[in-house]
Amino acid sequence: MIRALVLDIEGTTSPTASVRGDLYGYTRSRLPGWLAENAEGAAASIIEATRVQAKRPDADVAEVADILIGWLNNDVKSEPLKLAQGIVCAEGFRSGAVFGEFFADVAPALRAWRHRGMELYVYSSGSVRNQKDWFEFARGGELLSLISGHFDLSTAGPKRERSSYRKIAGAIGIPGDQLLFLSDHPDELDAAVAAGWLAVGVSRPGEPNPPREPHEWISDFRDVELP
Ligand SMILES: [Mg+2]
Repeated sequence: MIRALVLDIEGTTSPTASVRGDLYGYTRSRLPGWLAENAEGAAASIIEATRVQAKRPDADVAEVADILIGWLNNDVKSEPLKLAQGIVCAEGFRSGAVFGEFFADVAPALRAWRHRGMELYVYSSGSVRNQKDWFEFARGGELLSLISGHFDLSTAGPKRERSSYRKIAGAIGIPGDQLLFLSDHPDELDAAVAAGWLAVGVSRPGEPNPPREPHEWISDFRDVELP
């Protein structure tokens, strides 16, 4: 019996381009201004931590912005980047500049699963803060209230490692064989299955990750079969 579903975001609930394009694009455009406006306040510790991580103690605010955007473009793991992105995007969601984008089948499926008593969780490499905003400010209306909990790289670990899925199962308090993971990435499905979870691949038109055996693949959340 499946008691909970754990959902990936990029490529699974949401178009990769909407995360990489809209959200990262907003961060790129807004980050330099935000750093400059808040250099003496909320951004001060982020600016200092960036100088330390980059080993550029004399970098001015504009250079710090360039460093952070370089890390964003290259997926460099960085605590100051994550903090800055969280704050800048939070501002963007609240001002209506960006929205959480979801494939059309997602919201009805989430509601139907909740109606059946399923718990829903999110596991994404985006920070928990960004994940919550993504669901709260979903374009078609908020979805955050349907989600019981969120996991990211800092709370659960890397998405391609079995130990991360063990950790999530422990945190949720449900055994792996009662958890169903939905993701577009075959390596993530492998890791979840290795941790004893059930896993189904999601392959949506236009998304980059090709399906791979031995997993079952669907292209629409309506095709998820809950025994
Ligand atoms: Mg994904």
